[in-house]
Amino acid sequence: MKAENLRIVFRSTVYENRPRRSEEFAEIAREIRRDIIKMLVLAGSGHSGGPLGTADIHAVLFFGGYMRYRPKDPWWPGRDRYVLSAGHLCPVLYATLARAGFFPVEELRTLRKYGSRLQGHPGRDMGLPGLETSTASLGQGISIAVGMALSDKWLDKSDRRVFALTGDGELQEGSVWEAAMAAAHYKLDNLCWIVDNNDCQIDGRVPNVMSIYPIDKKFEAFGFAVMQCDGHDYEELSTCLEQFLENHRRAIGKPTVIIARTKMGRGVSFMEDDYRWHGKPPTPEQALKALQELEDPYITVVEPAEV
Ligand SMILES: [Mg+2]
Repeated sequence: MKAENLRIVFRSTVYENRPRRSEEFAEIAREIRRDIIKMLVLAGSGHSGGPLGTADIHAVLFFGGYMRYRPKDPWWPGRDRYVLSAGHLCPVLYATLARAGFFPVEELRTLRKYGSRLQGHPGRDMGLPGLETSTASLGQGISIAVGMALSDKWLDKSDRRVFALTGDGELQEGSVWEAAMAAAHYKLDNLCWIVDNNDCQIDGRVPNVMSIYPIDKKFEAFGFAVMQCDGHDYEELSTCLEQFLENHRRAIGKPTVIIARTKMGRGVSFMEDDYRWHGKPPTPEQALKALQELEDPYITVVEPAEV
């Protein structure tokens, strides 16, 4: 079977950014996961595991009223900024931005196509509304985020906040800890660093490649306010983000890190918690199964599969 044999429909729904109940976050996260599978099977390449694993985090962060942004005025100076330091997870960011109304949902079809604004690793030069910076060279996005928080707090003296997400394997990069050291030194209480702690990376389980544990103790030693949560639990994620906003309001003089325990590939049974799904897309047959599991209302096979 080829991708063309699947009926891939992107619903046009966009979501507001406001306080929500868990059931609403669950529906948004499911929509984002469907988008991810559709984008990847149409592209025929890309990363499945991390984007699916962080769909819940993105749903709460962008659609729970925690970040300030204006999709129709994407470079509004008063906005909070988000940096996806683990840039290879970009299908989840593209789906999230589209569902927030930054650009047409139909554009998700163009992932990894020549000339598309949705490149396989995010490129700021492609001019995608809402994309703050190029990332994917691991360890560098978080340094950019620290620079943003530094300039917001100490140069502009603004109350803007910077949110950033790194992988856990990404914590093996030395520059990550330089960023952590600088964030604490400059008392960046406007920085919210989220770690996607799925315990997986491209070559295996994180402790088998190079252990980064204990993550919480390391960040504590670096001078962070540390929180941990289940990265698939909407209430726990909401509580952590509320606490960060409170830390910022009270100007505690420390950056915040949220260590979110996640499962790579979450939501698709045959991908869940399997590091081999780090960097490959589903086949059309697998995409069909995944979209059925995700209760996609449109997915059907439109022509007989090749034999
Ligand atoms: Mg990981």
